[in-house]
Amino acid sequence: MNPNGGDTIIRSTQPTATRRRIILFPLPWQGHITPMLQLGNILHNHGFKIIFLHAEFNSPSYTNYPHFTFKTITDHVSEINHVPKTPPDPTFIITYLNENCVDSFTDCLNELLAEPNEPPVACLITDAEYYFAQDVADSMKIPRLVTWACTIASVLVYGDLLFFYEKGYFNFTKKDPGYEAPMPKYPLLKVKDIIKITPNPKGLGEYLTKVVKQIKASSGIIWNSFIQLEEPTLETLNQDFPIPKFSLGPLHMYFPVSPSSVLDQDRTFFTWLDGQAPKSVLYMSFGSVARISKLEFLEVAYALANIDIPFLWVVRPGWVEGSEWLELLPDKFLEEVGDRGRIVKWCPQNEVLAHPSIGCFWTHSGWNSTLECIREGVPMICAPCVVGQPIIAR
Ligand code: UDP
Repeated sequence: MNPNGGDTIIRSTQPTATRRRIILFPLPWQGHITPMLQLGNILHNHGFKIIFLHAEFNSPSYTNYPHFTFKTITDHVSEINHVPKTPPDPTFIITYLNENCVDSFTDCLNELLAEPNEPPVACLITDAEYYFAQDVADSMKIPRLVTWACTIASVLVYGDLLFFYEKGYFNFTKKDPGYEAPMPKYPLLKVKDIIKITPNPKGLGEYLTKVVKQIKASSGIIWNSFIQLEEPTLETLNQDFPIPKFSLGPLHMYFPVSPSSVLDQDRTFFTWLDGQAPKSVLYMSFGSVARISKLEFLEVAYALANIDIPFLWVVRPGWVEGSEWLELLPDKFLEEVGDRGRIVKWCPQNEVLAHPSIGCFWTHSGWNSTLECIREGVPMICAPCVVGQPIIAR
């Protein structure tokens, strides 16, 4: 496989009936669904039949993937009376899924294994954060590989999170001289980056300890990253994680086809974008999960109003705490900006980043956004929010 172009992938001519099956199961967010679909495409082209499992929560339309078989895993998320919008523990839903998908996932695997006239299941590939899946796979004697939807370096840092918590790093404030100091073991990271990972280091640390333990118990890990970017980290990981490792990223480089989108993509701005000067437009998006406060939103709005350059701004509904969409924009913002800017709810980001008018990406440093941006050679302004993002930004 050649990550510099999709053309060199050999399309399998194996008939569907004799293809061994691979079962994929991503976390239900865009940044996890997209690379899993892309991995599924690669494996399909190498002669496997793809069974794609998805939680009920946040399920996208899969019309672009008629060659996969999709199955829904009952997750009971709709029974949660109150999902905290700014949870103290960012893993609230993921932990819930880990606790509530076990039966439905087990039943689904049993049904798949019992299907008559179907070829064997070669393996299961789940998001690493579905730690519950390792015990299920072991009990059925199916090898489980895991995918990691973030920078490889984050696995190492996450493994040390509880240690950093116990050493008191999360108690530093801006007034402490050590706040800007480099972290031990990870000199690229500053203490303030570690603090940004989570407001609940104990909760996240305990959760990630389970994730890391089950990664080590798996049959292998598939990174959506590449050697040139993370070679020293991979060398360190070889000692800590004695399981097979595959660096297949950036996965989006293999397939030009747009992955399924959780939100409807606006394309109406492309005529406007086509009319802008080369490398002149600031593109701003904070991905599918991050949330910001009203104050942060206003700061972004005033910045965009006060710089004299064109911008394309993705304001995802629900991105701003306490707001549906644009209600918190300063008075006269739209009037004053006029034709200089466009605001959309969601866009085909890969196409936007590849557009000749884009000159810069103001990003939350999500891993997929970062890889997509590196691919297009667009400079980034990094404004990381939580979890892996401060690590990715450095
Ligand atoms: N994305 C998109 N349209 C948008 C904003 C984002 O298609 O308007 C896609 C983007 O291309 C990326 C994904 O959503 O593939 C976001 O993943 P990332 O890992 O960057 O961030 P996350 O959403 O996981 O925080």
